[in-house]
Amino acid sequence: MPRPIPRIDIPHTDLWTALFERKDKPFPDSQVLYQCPVTGRNYTYASLRRTTEQLGSGLRRHFSWQKGDVLALFSQNCIDTPAVTWGCHWAGGIVSPANPAYTVRELVHHLKDSGSKALFTQRSLLPVALKAAAESGISRDRIVLIGEERDPGFKHFTQLLDEIPRGTRAKLVPDEDLSFLVYSSGTTGLPKGVMLTHLNVVSDMFMVNSAEGELLKWNRDKILSVLPYYHIYGLQCLVHFPAYSGLTTVVMSSFNLQNFCSIIQNYKITYTYVAPPILVHLAKNPIVSNYDLSSLRMITSGAAPLTKDLIYAVKDRLGIEVKQAYGLSETSPVTHVQRKWDVGMGSNGPPLPNQIVKFVDPDGNEVPTGQEGEVWIAGPNVFKGYHNNIAATLASKTPDGFFKTGDLGYEDEHGNMYITDRVKELIKFKGFQVAPAELEGLLMGHDSVHDVAVIGSYDESIASEVPLAFVVLKEGMEKNEENAQAIVKWLEERVARHKRLRGGIRWINEIPKTASGKILRRKLKNILAEDVKDA
Ligand code: AMP
Repeated sequence: MPRPIPRIDIPHTDLWTALFERKDKPFPDSQVLYQCPVTGRNYTYASLRRTTEQLGSGLRRHFSWQKGDVLALFSQNCIDTPAVTWGCHWAGGIVSPANPAYTVRELVHHLKDSGSKALFTQRSLLPVALKAAAESGISRDRIVLIGEERDPGFKHFTQLLDEIPRGTRAKLVPDEDLSFLVYSSGTTGLPKGVMLTHLNVVSDMFMVNSAEGELLKWNRDKILSVLPYYHIYGLQCLVHFPAYSGLTTVVMSSFNLQNFCSIIQNYKITYTYVAPPILVHLAKNPIVSNYDLSSLRMITSGAAPLTKDLIYAVKDRLGIEVKQAYGLSETSPVTHVQRKWDVGMGSNGPPLPNQIVKFVDPDGNEVPTGQEGEVWIAGPNVFKGYHNNIAATLASKTPDGFFKTGDLGYEDEHGNMYITDRVKELIKFKGFQVAPAELEGLLMGHDSVHDVAVIGSYDESIASEVPLAFVVLKEGMEKNEENAQAIVKWLEERVARHKRLRGGIRWINEIPKTASGKILRRKLKNILAEDVKDA
């Protein structure tokens, strides 16, 4: 049995209090926390705190903001995101971040399902935001802009700030009241709202800090923020944790290799968090050689599996140490992280403190150390449940509080966890979730599709899965390339970029299913593997 990780003390408090009313802050109020590389604008700890209070007060005055109201944040990464997030929390609100690549249909689902009372967005996203807000019953005056670009027809969030904040911060119950409503398909079905309490997120922040905080110093290290803030991985590792540690974070709006490299070079970035596809660029892309990346000491990769080959390729080319981490939206998100890149290579390292992990067989019995089983996790970072979905909540947890991740893995004798496979439906494209059920539901609406199943196929060149559809055509339709392209294109117009059928279409005569109609995805994966072998 591996040695247990010592527990840490986690304050029973909300996120705003944990960040802004701490007594042991090691860095000065003037420390820059978020830096925009395009405009030079920044937030110091002090200016951030002040802005959150002003916005919280302004939300109440302009929108009669109540405790529990949901604010949807539909935006690319922006240095205003932390201020808006914590301003909403100050007033007792819940933040629900949405992917800026969403189509109107996807955003409408998000806004309606979350019951959002206001939509904070950027000028460039107004065409989608406006239509979605109208369909979701959010009035125009509750669409608020963040970032540099303004528009005379809409309020900018700075116009909501109260010069002198009024009233007091909302009283929150840390283990009851929600901080975020993020979206995940869980183990099956359509994307669902994952209810994260303040204590969930505070706990994970302290747990991450206990491992990562050891490696980073506020007066030495600088972080590059490229992972999206609309995913809890980006929020926790690149917004909350650095703010708690006092690390300066340079904020990229979205990934572009040249910008990524030039920011590392110009700001002497020492550390960053990524998903595996960015590492493929660092390992292989010739553009990287045009930049001096020598300041970058270490990278942590998460959100999808990482191969040892890629870790070595980055180390050999650039000398950068790449560690791996694991987590899920439902665990706020990080549960495991390697402490050193070359200890437990290929694993996700040991669990964070206060995390209880077990590996179970299909009957729910724990398997011995070293044997593969489904990963079940308990701890203070495990979510409260799925929003408005008691059935999915009950199915996802055991009565004694273990969350069933839907991932398969095992632990070695030193306590390092290796993920080996997934038993759930989920596909991940470059770390972004794609719910097969959502694409299948849409594709069934295509004129020539009789039946369909979507699975992930691994594309080594980008170190990522890509969605691929097995399609049964309606009678009389021909199985040709033209029809395949027409279906791919048809779907493209209805979904965000990461959900496109990049793996293409395979024709099949019948989708293999159980007697109860459940798609046998494993069978389809095997068909695909055979095809690849034969090719
Ligand atoms: P999300 O809720 O979007 O964070 O997705 C969580 C899922 O991403 C997990 O259940 C895993 O299937 C996958 N995942 C996250 N980190 C890793 C990792 N290091 N290795 C393999 N899969 C991962």
